[in-house]
Amino acid sequence: MQGGWRHRKAKISGGIFALDLRRVRFALKGSLQNAAVVGAGPNGLAGAITLAQAGIAVTVYEAESIAGGGARTIELTLPGFRHDFGSAVHPMAAGSPFFRRLPLAAHGLEWIHSPVAMAHPLDDGTAALLVRDLDEQCRLVGKDGNAWRRILEPFSRNWWALTKDILQPLSLPPRHPLLLARMGACGALPASTLARRAFQEAHTRALFAGMAAHSFLSLTQPFSSSFGIVLAAAAHAVGWPIPRGGSQAITDALIAHLQSLGGVVQISTPVERLEELGRVDVALCDTTPRQLLRLAGDRLHSVDRQRFSRFRPGPGVFKVDYALSEPIPWRAKDCALAATVHVGGGEMEIAVSESAVGDGRTSKHPFMIVTQPSLFDRSRAPLGRHTAWAYCHVPNGSTENMLPRMEAQMERFAPGFQECVLARRVFPPRDLEYMDRNLEGGDVSGGAVDGLQLFLRPGWRFYATSDPSLYLCSSSTPPGGGVHGMCGHNAARMALRHLRR
Ligand SMILES: Cc1cc2nc3c(=O)[nH]c(=O)nc-3n(C[C@H](O)[C@H](O)[C@H](O)COP(=O)(O)OP(=O)(O)OC[C@H]3O[C@@H](n4cnc5c(N)ncnc54)[C@H](O)[C@@H]3O)c2cc1C
Repeated sequence: MQGGWRHRKAKISGGIFALDLRRVRFALKGSLQNAAVVGAGPNGLAGAITLAQAGIAVTVYEAESIAGGGARTIELTLPGFRHDFGSAVHPMAAGSPFFRRLPLAAHGLEWIHSPVAMAHPLDDGTAALLVRDLDEQCRLVGKDGNAWRRILEPFSRNWWALTKDILQPLSLPPRHPLLLARMGACGALPASTLARRAFQEAHTRALFAGMAAHSFLSLTQPFSSSFGIVLAAAAHAVGWPIPRGGSQAITDALIAHLQSLGGVVQISTPVERLEELGRVDVALCDTTPRQLLRLAGDRLHSVDRQRFSRFRPGPGVFKVDYALSEPIPWRAKDCALAATVHVGGGEMEIAVSESAVGDGRTSKHPFMIVTQPSLFDRSRAPLGRHTAWAYCHVPNGSTENMLPRMEAQMERFAPGFQECVLARRVFPPRDLEYMDRNLEGGDVSGGAVDGLQLFLRPGWRFYATSDPSLYLCSSSTPPGGGVHGMCGHNAARMALRHLRR
């Protein structure tokens, strides 16, 4: 509630005044245009900012009492323990060409880089490490240094050029064809194939497999490598930072900037039918395609209704938030240097775990992504205490209780972990969806990223619908999941082209 009140207050103090000036300017031109955005996740807010930058009067309607969707920080366990409900670590926000152009630092966003971007403990008590400096990384991976450099340097060195092609919908001709062709050549391979062909060391293979597993694809599926390559390249180009104060700081900075442009955010306002928005020149929906179907009803052409109802959700996640009495007691001490830790053993074991989920089963020894932000940001927990979250992949909508298996994995690499737990909050897929209706069946990627859906989300028209004033702008559109705002920004640009016509 506090976050919501802050947003309302800021709206009253600065936003309305700015909005009035804008209205005056438009009224003088005789062309006041207005827009509504349904959903204040990172993409809804990015879309709203893009429209407001073009002089459109924008109102964002958010169902929940705190804006941010998957980028919210909330006391989920005990008083004073501030947990990231969704996103915690932000290579894609730091590496977003749209966010880069916004004055988010002026609105309080501060990135913290842990000394090591990510650690991956193994059963021998050591950990593979991912660091920002490419030379240091090549030294760390020993015999695999040359291969690591050969694969990753072209992408990390040309990160901003690469984003022009990979963070936009498929554009022909590509802006950087050679770079994109190179990405296609490596990224199209299944991650297990690339890891085994390119790297000799078990540590390097595990490191790469863990990053590729962020794709939610089985590591034997084509294009699973591309996720590992993009995440590793981002680590070397922009790091894997966490925001001081949690992911809410990204949302708050986006909202503050939107308000400075005259935009308005209305929290606790679920939209059930588009008619509730009144007369608007354009509407962006930060929703899943399935929800857009419900919102729009027969306003959509039957072709759209078909393609939206065919859109496939991805696997879900089972997430646990922890309030801890002390830092996680990792056996491999280097793990305490990283905000992100990949737990799940070697490349083979991760591949088995992800294949199970791909086959519609839960894994006996789940691969897990763990974050421990309070080690690097004291604002997350009372003095001397800590927060962490962990999640593993499960089939969409799974009702299986993964907690015992997840904590067995934690004990394997951090003996004594359970004794440090002061409180835990468990989020099976159903409860994640309850907190954010976009997380259908626990899917945090806005839809499966295999087959054609990797490129054509939710179809070849991307953001556009049969109604020229209605656009989809959530992570169900290109470039997909992650806090980067590019889906919202791209959708708004398409909407602006319609408005100009
Ligand atoms: C557990 C978890 C961990 C994650 N970890 C990371 C990470 O570390 N790094 C990273 O980059 N990404 C991470 N993500 C993914 C990231 O959070 C999402 O990709 C991102 O938030 C998608 O943004 P979005 O705006 O498309 O949707 P969302 O963030 O889901 O926002 C959609 C918003 O729209 C609102 N809404 C929907 N329908 C309506 C309606 N009818 N009326 C009003 N409001 C509506 C919802 O309430 C919500 O606030 C994680 C996600 C989860 C859940």
